[in-house]
Amino acid sequence: MEKSLKSGFMGSMLGSALGDAVGELAFRFPDKGALLDEVGRSRTLIYTDDTAMALGLARSLAEVGDLDQEQLGKRFRRDFEQEPWRGYAQGPPTIFSRVKSTGCTYVEAARRIFRGEGSLGNGAAMRVAPLGLFFHGEPDLHKKARASAEITHAHPVGMDGAAVQATAVGLALHLNPGEPLDIEKFVTVLQGISSTTPIREKLHLLKELLSTNAPPQEAAPLLGRTVAVHESLPFALYAFLKHPDAFEECLLCAVLHGGDRDTLGAMACAVSGAYLGVEALPRAWLDRLENRQYMEGLALDLHGRSEARKGKRVFRTN
Ligand SMILES: [Mg+2]
Repeated sequence: MEKSLKSGFMGSMLGSALGDAVGELAFRFPDKGALLDEVGRSRTLIYTDDTAMALGLARSLAEVGDLDQEQLGKRFRRDFEQEPWRGYAQGPPTIFSRVKSTGCTYVEAARRIFRGEGSLGNGAAMRVAPLGLFFHGEPDLHKKARASAEITHAHPVGMDGAAVQATAVGLALHLNPGEPLDIEKFVTVLQGISSTTPIREKLHLLKELLSTNAPPQEAAPLLGRTVAVHESLPFALYAFLKHPDAFEECLLCAVLHGGDRDTLGAMACAVSGAYLGVEALPRAWLDRLENRQYMEGLALDLHGRSEARKGKRVFRTN
């Protein structure tokens, strides 16, 4: 089965939103049967800040045609002011109000939080999928991801997590689900762009757990499920790599083992959707996904602009 890039763009953005929305429900319905019943009963699957910020990033990339930290910061702030009820953590609103009251840049404000260390939360990785799609195949994709993180998650680990997640999405987009997935190679590429010890150590452990076929009950507590990016992104990657050919299994693995369920779902399913394409997402779930048509339009727009960007790049180098 050949997957088109367009299908991967849609699969990643819609898949991540489904992971987020179903993951959020899993806080109240933490058992598989009860969760699936609730998903089946829900008229609308409502997403949280993870998807709201991913859509903000996608819009900013589409509008500017590149990553622009200040423009992205303004977009995030406007989106937050319009929908503050989406479940944002404390960091972003603190940064937004500091920028508003002092006129400093988003990066300056982000560096000051958490006693001047910046956030190492998973908030930059949870939203970064559109950037991994937009810059797919470009050698500085991971640098763009770090820059996108820096306006809210300026700690080196927070930025590194976003770089690894964006790279995983770009990598998954290029792979063909009809061919065997080389799991070890996939993680090795991520290790290659990782620049911090906490993330590198977890990727090493991830490789070990996958090679010994460790079950999720064992992997989850070892890899972590907290709001820190080095304690959640590795288990999200585990969920994808454990179930590369089954979107639903990947999603359930990510959200049914406790911790930061919505963000685990968003990160795992962004990679799974990029790999499998939109056709692999459950139709009945997509039919209930909040703002699905808007997301589809944005994914198609982003795909078109990414293609145009690559066309220009080829033209310039010729
Ligand atoms: Mg959330």
